[in-house]
Amino acid sequence: MELLDKQSIWQVRNSYLGVYVHFPYCFKKCDYCDFYSEGIGASPANDEMSLFQSYKKEILERKTHFPEISKRTIDTVFFGGGTPSKASSNNWKQLLDFLRSEFTFAEDTEISIEVNPEDLNSELLEDYHTIGINRVNVGVQTFSPKGLEFLGRHYDAIRYGSLVDVLKNSPIRRVGIDLMYGIPGVSKDSFYRDLNIFLEAGLPHLSLYSLTLEKGTKYSRDVADKKKGEPEENIQSEILTNLPMLLKEYGYNWYEVSNYAKPGFESRHNLKYWTYEPYLGIGPGAHGMIEGQRYGNPRNSSLYQKKQTNTKYEPTDPTTELSLTLFRLFSPFRYLDFIDSYLDGNAKTKYIRTIEGWEKKGYCTIEAGVFQWKQEALLLLDDLILEISL
Ligand code: SF4
Repeated sequence: MELLDKQSIWQVRNSYLGVYVHFPYCFKKCDYCDFYSEGIGASPANDEMSLFQSYKKEILERKTHFPEISKRTIDTVFFGGGTPSKASSNNWKQLLDFLRSEFTFAEDTEISIEVNPEDLNSELLEDYHTIGINRVNVGVQTFSPKGLEFLGRHYDAIRYGSLVDVLKNSPIRRVGIDLMYGIPGVSKDSFYRDLNIFLEAGLPHLSLYSLTLEKGTKYSRDVADKKKGEPEENIQSEILTNLPMLLKEYGYNWYEVSNYAKPGFESRHNLKYWTYEPYLGIGPGAHGMIEGQRYGNPRNSSLYQKKQTNTKYEPTDPTTELSLTLFRLFSPFRYLDFIDSYLDGNAKTKYIRTIEGWEKKGYCTIEAGVFQWKQEALLLLDDLILEISL
């Protein structure tokens, strides 16, 4: 436990609700991206007003379908995308006011927004602070212009240059960035230079993703056509293994396989996905999970606005879903609580047997009902998760 000590211990929480809102527009569609998003250049989206109206309509419809959620307290709201910083702050403010008028909010509700570098400046963060947004994450990916070009991302040299200072001086304290590694043509040293920019700034949250090939993306077609190289898997494994210790030295807890935070700065909203807590998903391409049912909206903004929400609901399968999310956590969690709350007899026995087997092999610790991975499990994680989910 010594690498991962002094971390919060996650547990089942029964009375809360998260809200995710998907804003699907971006300056440019990145080549590797498989989120539902559309590149529309610098101008605002033509249908921004009607999209925000549709969000409100969907919130009311979901509330009617799931009357139980009115009894819950919202403790996280996440504006994601796409690029939600492309929409006006005033529209986000009005949507927040609407949510507050429809639900009870916890006093310390985490309200996050994803920002793209081209939109980031001090005034924007002041605006967000004023309207109650208290967490900002910036999708940097890399500071290397060559790397950004490979990814097909929009690059604005001035904004990338000032990004860290703007975040450091933000009135919002819960700030973080995403970095990506394993981009062909971007050396290991170049990745560590990116990481150093983050470490020197001392920002409290970091998401680190390896570049992956996702079906249907321009990047995967370019690889198939031999126009671009595949992600650098050797570099990825090496970096993945080095990071937990390195970041620990700088005071970051490794709380999820790809996420690091200074104590208390974890993304509480994302933790909901990993700990099987219910959340409303609003907007085109958004998914939600409430009362053991899942739904997903069409990945098409005009269809979403015309036809409104998807009213098909699928029952969740906790035996599989819990394993796919919970065991991504590298911080400790009360595994017996999760098992008792969500699984039936057979599944419980299987989970407990598998976990005890992992402990014997030295992949995890279990103490007083608390589970925690050891670093030894990191490179085997996908296989281990498969083992418990089958
Ligand atoms: S900015 Fe983000 S959401 Fe938009 S296309 Fe690029 S990776 Fe996808």
